[in-house]
Amino acid sequence: MDNLTQFAYVVAAALFILGLKQLGSPATARRGNTISAVGMLLAIVAALLDQGIVEYQWIAIGFVAGGLVGAAAARLVKMTAMPEMVALFNGFGGMASLLVGWAAISPAAGTFTLVTIVLSILIGGLTFTGSLVAYGKLSEKLGSGAVMFQGQQVVNSLIVLGIVAGAVMFCVEPANHLWLYLVVGLSLLFGIMAVIPIGGADMPVVISLLNSYSGLAACAAGFAVDNNILIVAGSLVGASGIILTQIMCKAMNRSLSNVLFSGFGSGKVESAEVEGEIKPISVEDAFYVLEAATNVAIIPGYGMAVAQAQHVVKELMELLERNGAEVNFGIHPVAGRMPGHMNVLLAEADVAYDHLLEMDDINPRMANVDVAIVIGANDVVNPAAREVESSPIYGMPVINVDQARTVFVLKRSMASGFAGIENPLFYKDNTRMLFGDAKESIGGLVREFG
Ligand code: NDP
Repeated sequence: MDNLTQFAYVVAAALFILGLKQLGSPATARRGNTISAVGMLLAIVAALLDQGIVEYQWIAIGFVAGGLVGAAAARLVKMTAMPEMVALFNGFGGMASLLVGWAAISPAAGTFTLVTIVLSILIGGLTFTGSLVAYGKLSEKLGSGAVMFQGQQVVNSLIVLGIVAGAVMFCVEPANHLWLYLVVGLSLLFGIMAVIPIGGADMPVVISLLNSYSGLAACAAGFAVDNNILIVAGSLVGASGIILTQIMCKAMNRSLSNVLFSGFGSGKVESAEVEGEIKPISVEDAFYVLEAATNVAIIPGYGMAVAQAQHVVKELMELLERNGAEVNFGIHPVAGRMPGHMNVLLAEADVAYDHLLEMDDINPRMANVDVAIVIGANDVVNPAAREVESSPIYGMPVINVDQARTVFVLKRSMASGFAGIENPLFYKDNTRMLFGDAKESIGGLVREFG
């Protein structure tokens, strides 16, 4: 039985790695997801059968109950609320590791096992509360600004000291549960303290980092209960989470420590000095400009997701192409509210992948673009990131739509984006504001073409 279990684990680990590899390209991502899910099912069944931990009927009941909750969550959650759901599930992963670590405490545990137990409790605990705060900030149940107060660093340092002292004492005196409670309590507190000083605009990075932590917690729990597949799965999550974190930091031209400790978004936002005036345009006039364009770039953002405009955007793209224009999409790595958000929406509308250009590929072409259509994007096209040194997003790479001959910005009002800052793009000479819900505005353009 043991050999069979270990064999099932090796197959599951291979499926995870294959699945992860396929998730790297939009063309194979769905298959990759299915392969990984099959690997996880195999791993769960093998782990449950191993040493007769539970009987078949419990596996069946767990399978149906978990499947129902997962399917309902996937169906019911709105696309725009997906990052919140990821944050929440991440947190549950952390809590699961904490509980597994706790359950593994036994008088027979050696020092190594005790160290892994304390690590799974510590990392699992801070991942749980950190993820709940990230969930609260993203879903706007908590204020999204950075919370800073005097002496914060001192308080945080004391908490860390307390955790280290408690962890060491727990390993020395495992029978004294006071140390365990101290580590659990301080880890939960530290998760909150670590995330509150980070502004809402940095939550994607935080969630990715917490995702990495939940993997590390699972890995430690795997050592604590001596389960190979948990160690492998935890390491994969830990490593991929940290890689994604790095990619996102690079996309914002910021270091991880700047994201975690600078208090970005703490409300001390200097509004950019804006010159020029707002020039609204009607759907009819926008149509005449588009009809004459031979090179069009579409830059989608969070507003396209809110308006669910992806299908009508695809229609507009086809009409423009039929009219002889070259049409490309410019995808910013943090457009929307989760990594890959725009890719997912456009894939849903069947836009071919070769039309999607990453920021670094579309920016050098921008000077040749006749019309750049910005659909519900704001922060990711904000030229203040290049031009206004006092701006909180100064240095963040953005899509340089202002370098196109004409820019249409489709949004409902002059409201700011997620970072809460003014956007000088709206006031530039070559910008025209097409106010209204993105789906309705694009629908209007489609009708003009028709
Ligand atoms: P922004 O949040 O900067 O701007 C979105 C714009 O969409 C708003 O200005 C809003 O203006 C407009 N909008 C909203 N609803 C509609 C609608 N129905 N029709 C038309 N327009 C609409 O989005 P970006 O994509 O430019 O930038 C993403 C931001 O989110 C960045 O700051 C990023 O750091 C952050 N973030 C990114 C995550 C990720 O992983 N991608 C996760 C979490 C945060 P108005 O109200 O006037 O219509």
